[in-house]
Amino acid sequence: MGRITLDKVTKSFGEVNVIPPLDLTINDGEFVVFVGPSGCGKSTLLRLIAGLEDVTSGQIRIDGEDATDMPPAKRGLAMVFQSYALYPHMSVRKNIAFPMKMAGVPQDEQNRRIEAAAKSLNLSDYLDRRPGQLSGGQRQRVAIGRAIVREPSAFLFDEPLSNLDAALRVNMRLEISELHNALKTTMIYVTHDQVEAMTMADKIVVLRAGNIEQVGSPLDLYHRPQNEFVAGFIGSPK
Ligand code: ADP
Ligand code: MG
Repeated sequence: MGRITLDKVTKSFGEVNVIPPLDLTINDGEFVVFVGPSGCGKSTLLRLIAGLEDVTSGQIRIDGEDATDMPPAKRGLAMVFQSYALYPHMSVRKNIAFPMKMAGVPQDEQNRRIEAAAKSLNLSDYLDRRPGQLSGGQRQRVAIGRAIVREPSAFLFDEPLSNLDAALRVNMRLEISELHNALKTTMIYVTHDQVEAMTMADKIVVLRAGNIEQVGSPLDLYHRPQNEFVAGFIGSPK
């Protein structure tokens, strides 16, 4: 579970081609980071995989099944946004429960998953609070908790830490990496931050203007960059 393949996927907005034909395989359990400068198409690519945008052409397969025209809810993926998108009037518990309620998960199973997610995210003491009573890091954890309880075959993160201050970002990077080690679920993580890419990824996909410049492990990219762009991007400080 959690194997995603893109076959000659393209995306245009009107006349503007944002993703030229692109092939990519994401293996089960991999932590894949899409990295590249602002506007290069990272979010678009993630939204195509999530089904939040339709491809212009090409095919997306998830666990062997053609998902190109599948609605987002059927894809078995969970997206975590930078803006958290929490419901301010609901408790943490209700925020986390919401997707399960929508999916009709039985109440005791909901409770079991909430307790487990809260434990792994250090949120057990905060379940009755509202988002406004939490720190930025805690809010981000709630957003991750809401993804975990859906038991997705892959997590999709779009710059989840960019609203946090530097020290908290370092902590959250470690927490997300630990979560990946514990769950062993595929994670696709979008960032423009080279340090995040180098420290978190099994596999890095370097994008420029919708093109994949190189795919490889952090060490591959560092020692064997295929071109000046990759060398400059990975080598240069943030
Ligand atoms: P990134 O996440 O790497 O910063 P995006 O995927 O958001 O980049 O955007 C890639 C390009 O596609 C940008 O030029 C952006 O302006 C354009 N774009 C993204 N979404 C839309 C849209 N809904 N309509 C028109 N253009 C869009
Ligand atoms: Mg983006």
